[in-house]
Amino acid sequence: RQCSESIKENLLLVLLLGSVIFGCILGFSVRALVGKMDSRKIMYLQFPGEMMMRMLQMLILPLIVSSLIAGIAGLDARTCGRMGLRTLVYFAVTTLMAVSLGIILSYIIRPGANSKKEEFERYGEAASAHSVDTFLDLIRNMFPDNLILSCFTGYRSDEQRSVRNRTIIEKVPYNDGTFNETLGTYETSGVTDVSVNSQTPALVTITKVVQEVKVTHKGGQTGQINVLGLVVFSLLMGIVLSRMEKKAKPIYDFCNCLAEATMTIFIYFIWYSPVGITFLIAGKIVEMEDFGVLVGQVGVYFLTVLTGLFIHGMMVLPLIFFVCTRQNPYKFMLGISQAAFTAFGTSSSSATMPVTLHCLEVNNKVDPRVSTFVIPVGATINMDGTALYEAVAALFIANVNNMAMDFGQIITISITATAASIGAAGVPQAGLVTMVIVLSAVGLPVDDITLILVVDWFLDRFRTMTNVTGDCIGAGIVYHLSKHELPPLREEGKDEEHIE
Ligand code: ASP
Repeated sequence: RQCSESIKENLLLVLLLGSVIFGCILGFSVRALVGKMDSRKIMYLQFPGEMMMRMLQMLILPLIVSSLIAGIAGLDARTCGRMGLRTLVYFAVTTLMAVSLGIILSYIIRPGANSKKEEFERYGEAASAHSVDTFLDLIRNMFPDNLILSCFTGYRSDEQRSVRNRTIIEKVPYNDGTFNETLGTYETSGVTDVSVNSQTPALVTITKVVQEVKVTHKGGQTGQINVLGLVVFSLLMGIVLSRMEKKAKPIYDFCNCLAEATMTIFIYFIWYSPVGITFLIAGKIVEMEDFGVLVGQVGVYFLTVLTGLFIHGMMVLPLIFFVCTRQNPYKFMLGISQAAFTAFGTSSSSATMPVTLHCLEVNNKVDPRVSTFVIPVGATINMDGTALYEAVAALFIANVNNMAMDFGQIITISITATAASIGAAGVPQAGLVTMVIVLSAVGLPVDDITLILVVDWFLDRFRTMTNVTGDCIGAGIVYHLSKHELPPLREEGKDEEHIE
């Protein structure tokens, strides 16, 4: 049975790798043969991929809630606390290392240096984000006011501007304007007061129209499931249930059963993912603007980010894994390659989550109580690839603008890039939105995001791969450090004794 399992896993891996390659070939062939397609045809081409995203996203809700509640309910508070602490320390250390690597590489390669800003082409529009708002949104999302609603959508602050004209009547000193003797009118700042009847009034009445801009801060809906809110709720629920002893058994059993059933549905879906990934990639290649942009400074920027992601994902993280566990990191990484390819295909850590959990538990034998704890939290707040990319992009824009960053500004970039990666949701191109925080913190023009927008969808795929790899390595390390403290997994038929 084990042998057939491993054949299946390997076959799936080959299919997933093949789908990435075949998706590229298909995309470039369609581009060469048909040329640019209209958006309707692109939508048709991407449709099988859209279905795959939907299938994966459909499973996120039952999977996180059930497995997290059941997992935590089977642990005691001390083990849970230690596991949480290890996870957070790992997330903080690796994210800061990724940002530092991005900064060092930018200083060595200097993307965007010695170039003229006017030579760059701009695509699309810069999004808007505010650092305080992003931080507050993170906390708002942790404590959803409506749990049912958070299964459908998260929260994102929105700044709304309304402009209206208002007429004001003002008394101004006579000296400010001129009195037209022939017409008997008084003129000031282009406004005429005809009611003046004396040549030397102390004050005259003028009427002028002013524009009033009103800014309101409102809560916007992201349209994406609020993973963080569900994680916090499930954690709390799990902790409380673990203290309720036998009374909690029905919920514990229900969650266990739901988690197992959801994973079974996932096993059916996973065989469809090679098809989905092929069409997601092909559709994106057909949709893409010119490739000419990759030659020149944007290309240098692209390569800098890619080099950083490669070093971080293939050298730094494996080294950390080796130091912490003394195990072969590349064997571990082979076990999570299905998740890495899915991350490349979907550009979303959240959508990849069911595959990530499957790889960790089935291929790498990580205890589900650890993986279901580390992965949902990691997919929302631990994004090494995004943090690295934010730092490189900020320094690229600084170079293009000929602005030298001093030491204080570099520190600001490190902190804000870390914050921006924490604030970014695990969905396609979320890092691009939070990039505004980094740029505005060091006084770089936010509009210059449009210089890098055209290559972002492609970089997003690579940074999502790094993000998912970082989460998996974290789960492997936390499991290694916590496994001696974990109580034995419940065996069938011994239900009664377990929750005590
Ligand atoms: N797409 C990335 C993820 O889901 C986030 C980003 O960097 O845009 O991990």
